[in-house]
Amino acid sequence: MTESGKLYIVATPIGNLADITQRALEILQNADLIAAEDTRHSGKLLSHFGITTKMFALHDHNEKQKAQYLIDLINEGKSIALISDAGTPLISDPGYNLVNIAREQDVEVHPIPGPSAVITALSAAGLPTDKFLFAGFLPVKQQARLSELQKYKNADFTTVFYESPRRVIDTLKYMMEVYGEERELVLAKELTKHFESFVKGSAPQIIDWLQVDKDRQQGEMVLMVSPNKVEQLMSEDAEKLLLALTDELPLKKAAAITAQVHGLKKNDLYKYALSLQKED
Ligand code: SAM
Repeated sequence: MTESGKLYIVATPIGNLADITQRALEILQNADLIAAEDTRHSGKLLSHFGITTKMFALHDHNEKQKAQYLIDLINEGKSIALISDAGTPLISDPGYNLVNIAREQDVEVHPIPGPSAVITALSAAGLPTDKFLFAGFLPVKQQARLSELQKYKNADFTTVFYESPRRVIDTLKYMMEVYGEERELVLAKELTKHFESFVKGSAPQIIDWLQVDKDRQQGEMVLMVSPNKVEQLMSEDAEKLLLALTDELPLKKAAAITAQVHGLKKNDLYKYALSLQKED
């Protein structure tokens, strides 16, 4: 039930319209106003479901300025639903300022959960999900993009990026440079749509897959990077031993001894020790 004087954050489908929830439809139908990122785009979704609620444009460029106006309407007793072009608002989409101001001013905010590309991609990628990091979109500038990737190099969790088709090949090349040619990645494309696909492999393998056909380079994409295996497997004790030995012995020897003591692969340890040396 939509109650007056509240802000609802409503998730909408990321491709397949049948993924809209019953609650989302009820809230959107009964709200006094729908704040939408792009009213023309969302107009199509709403008319598909026969929803005639008035819309208000709230996007990155006017959000700060218009947020207080919307909060004032809520304080006058109106109920407002926030949606974005697709998926969950605020997840790489506008809405943060509005929700932040609403919370500061004790306005009730209710999430109406539903699709989001990050969770949809993770749920079917076959990568570890007990711990993950959503890193959003990478910066556009080359140096900033490289240093952002560098931050997650030794992550012992899955890292998830949103990526645009225009930049995906470049990003994969950077990933190859920073993470090496063997790190396992998953590219999830066109989720919930007709041409949905998951491509698992190393960066060079995914680049090859994309280059087979220009059509493969189109559409919406999520890129996931598997955890750094050695980081995941190596205990604190193993790392301490490896570091102590590398001070005294050649890397190969230090890796071999640590591998024997801790039951790990010497090649993995060698690469790990090498990457630490490069960082220094
Ligand atoms: N708020 C949305 C959410 O909850 O997922 C994300 C909005 S963000 C502006 C758009 C990006 O999300 C796309 O560039 C793509 O990386 C990802 N995305 C959205 N829909 C997708 C889909 N159907 N398949 C794959 N990625 C998708």
